[in-house]
Amino acid sequence: MFESLSDRLGGVFDKLRGRGALTELDVRAAMREVRIALLEADVALPVVKTFIDQVTADAIGADVIRSITPGQMVVKIVNDALVDMLGGDSAPLNVDVTPPAVIMMVGLQGSGKTTTTAKIAKRLNEKFGKKVLMASLDVARPAAQEQLRVLGEQISVATLPIIAGQGPVEIAQRAKSAAKLQGFDVLLLDTAGRLHVDTALMDEMRAVAGVGAPDEILLVVDSLTGQDAVNVASSFSGQVELTGVVLTRMDGDARGGAALSMRSVTGKPIKFAGTGEKLDALEEFSPSRVAGRILGMGDVVGLVERAAETFEAEASEKMAARLAKGQFDMNDLRSQLSQMQKMGGLGALAGMIPGMAKAKAAMANGGPDDKTLGRMEAVICSMTPKERAKPDLINAKRKIRIAKGAGTTVQEVNKLMKMHQEMETAMKRLRKMGGMKGMMAMLG
Ligand code: GDP
Repeated sequence: MFESLSDRLGGVFDKLRGRGALTELDVRAAMREVRIALLEADVALPVVKTFIDQVTADAIGADVIRSITPGQMVVKIVNDALVDMLGGDSAPLNVDVTPPAVIMMVGLQGSGKTTTTAKIAKRLNEKFGKKVLMASLDVARPAAQEQLRVLGEQISVATLPIIAGQGPVEIAQRAKSAAKLQGFDVLLLDTAGRLHVDTALMDEMRAVAGVGAPDEILLVVDSLTGQDAVNVASSFSGQVELTGVVLTRMDGDARGGAALSMRSVTGKPIKFAGTGEKLDALEEFSPSRVAGRILGMGDVVGLVERAAETFEAEASEKMAARLAKGQFDMNDLRSQLSQMQKMGGLGALAGMIPGMAKAKAAMANGGPDDKTLGRMEAVICSMTPKERAKPDLINAKRKIRIAKGAGTTVQEVNKLMKMHQEMETAMKRLRKMGGMKGMMAMLG
């Protein structure tokens, strides 16, 4: 999987890794090569462009953490951008609904739809203990229904008895009531494929979706067809509400263009990857795992993550030492604010710290909400270094200048000053009470 792309990217990073310092020129040269590697991997052009822009901006602006090389930092940035490009988080199947959950499988002929239907059935049954029923609605291709029945026998999953002469909509209705009556957890509907996307196929698909009321509509596409797979997905998603994509034949896909473009172009998550002909050759698609596989540099990514954690831990230790001495200036307030934002804003904090929900409610009038955190930071940025270190310097005249610089009002500046004062007082009081250690432990 992804071998040729991996090799190309590996070559680019090898050149960067030895560097002690990284210039903008280095980054741009590396990105030119990454761009070619992605295009050769058959990634859609707009997707490549967005990717390169993002990585270039992140890499040039990056604070390089002590103890790692700039080259390693770039590997981490590329890794994160790949994860984003692949869809971010994994997208699990939505089958925990009032039974039966209905999964409708759609796709072109030969994409691997029937095989994938059986693979998903097997997985749901064996891994999640679901009672699964499969039904083939493919009355166009002779022996399609029989093919699914045979697969069902192989994996010990029930299939709907075949009644000759029924159309797809009738079969879907029959399958749904059988699944309800017989207490199945999941019903998989394997619809008919065609050689090309055509109106008859789309009409049939919509009619089946109408009676089946599926919780998932999964499109099966062959990853070996590269951008065609992405185009097929775009045409299908204009016709039915696809909930996800399954990419088959990833085992033979050295390039990875379909996988890398799918999410950005269609907006649909890749839920599974088919990795072989055997019925257990199905993987849940995990963007971070796939990015790791493409880069083959899990060690570097892990190293940078650990370094970043240490860096933050050191910063908060420094902060704790200052607080313990009763020092709390605008710089401290700023790092507190950005910490809050990183942790998901006040909303997230409220859930984590006992008593915080109350404090948040109390702050609702005039206190900072998640949006104002950013604005408060802007106010602090507008202060001079001296003012930040000695907030007492800030008189009325200075306030006007600060407000102007931050594009806000003097009232906002006053609000921030008040907040700083209150926090400073609270810190001092805490110190007197000797409760600092407990407080810091609580704040993490
Ligand atoms: P359908 O016409 O879309 O239902 O396609 P089938 O399910 O009949 O699959 C067509 C062929 O592709 C079969 O020979 C499958 O074994 C094969 N196939 C399906 N998925 C995969 C996969 O992930 N990897 C490989 N190597 N072969 C696959």
